[in-house]
Amino acid sequence: MHLHHAIDDIRKPAPLPLPAHSHDPQQEAAPPRLASACGTHTWPLLALHAGASAVFAAALLPPAGWPLALACCLLILAMLLRAVRAPAAQPGRAASGTALLALDLVVFLLCYALRETDAGWHATAFCILLAAPYAGITRQLLGGAGLAVAASLAWLGLQDDFQAGNAATLLLLNLTGLCAGHCQQRQRREQVLQHAVLAEQAVRDHLTGCYNRRYLDEHLLGAELARSQRHGLCLTAILCDLDHFKRINDAHGHAAGDAVLRTFAGLLGNATRRGIDSVVRHGGEEFLLILPETDLAGGVRLAERLRDGLAQHIGTTASFGVASVACAPGRPAPGAAALVAAADRLLYQAKHAGRNCVRAAMLDAL
Ligand code: GH3
Ligand code: MG
Ligand code: MG
Repeated sequence: MHLHHAIDDIRKPAPLPLPAHSHDPQQEAAPPRLASACGTHTWPLLALHAGASAVFAAALLPPAGWPLALACCLLILAMLLRAVRAPAAQPGRAASGTALLALDLVVFLLCYALRETDAGWHATAFCILLAAPYAGITRQLLGGAGLAVAASLAWLGLQDDFQAGNAATLLLLNLTGLCAGHCQQRQRREQVLQHAVLAEQAVRDHLTGCYNRRYLDEHLLGAELARSQRHGLCLTAILCDLDHFKRINDAHGHAAGDAVLRTFAGLLGNATRRGIDSVVRHGGEEFLLILPETDLAGGVRLAERLRDGLAQHIGTTASFGVASVACAPGRPAPGAAALVAAADRLLYQAKHAGRNCVRAAMLDAL
């Protein structure tokens, strides 16, 4: 008996239904931005950088020229800030940040060469500026470190005689910067990963891996209805419920019932389109399928296929309510609750018709 296979599978969880990635409204609404994850460290550094540039401008130029120098520094800073705040995926983002920082350091060293007398001021500003490549402004630690080491060597080369104290300070600064940058990068990666895991857990049902009801109510259905409305597409919802599931629990135990639920969820996930359809655990042994760009006939075909598959692979039966809506840009959008309620009514009809069957209707025909 297939049911026994499903029950035997308790230690072998069924493949989880796959998430609807390309249509995930949450992902559409908030693309991951690595830049924001490190924002807290970057802001104080940019403030320091601005201070260093101002010190450098004040030391370098005669009084009449400082407003112009300050304006240039602010411009470079604004461009750096823009590079830092741009989404991580933006092409050329890391390269433009690195190029700007390199330009900044080169200009600084050139100015130093021209005004050696203010060495004290320059040294202070230079040390502060050197922290920038390590604080994620370039987004590439090795590239940033290379930049900082090259600038440090150039600085030492500009001195008339070799000063061991200066060399040791710069060596220490680069080493600590490298360590701090490495730690920060690792921390940032962990934060991003943790955030992704938590975000995923918040929208999934723990037992089956399907989307949970909260995700359906708060994001999925509203977004799919709005999309269907925008493009004038059909949207179909299938509510399916295992027949006499309580008997499985009673006869074989709760753990066996859980195994059947996982197998059923795996079957639903495998039968639907990856990245397009969504499988939601709507209640205990009740699952809701959201099928974008699918008309009523398509929904019924899938429900019948699932009914067959269930009998073949699990050896139990389920009842199905299939509700479909044809959206059009001019017409008022149907409510999410109305679509689910229609599928629920049809499921109820299927149960009353003796179970193990499909009942289907267009939403406006109900
Ligand atoms: P029907 O054909 O009318 O749907 O009958 P049914 O027995 O499937 O439905 P009923 O609502 O009477 O019982 C549902 C059962 O599902 C009762 C409940 O204990 C069980 N159930 C709900 N959630 C879980 C779960 O997470 N794991 C297990 N093992 N059982 C669950
Ligand atoms: Mg049931
Ligand atoms: Mg039920």
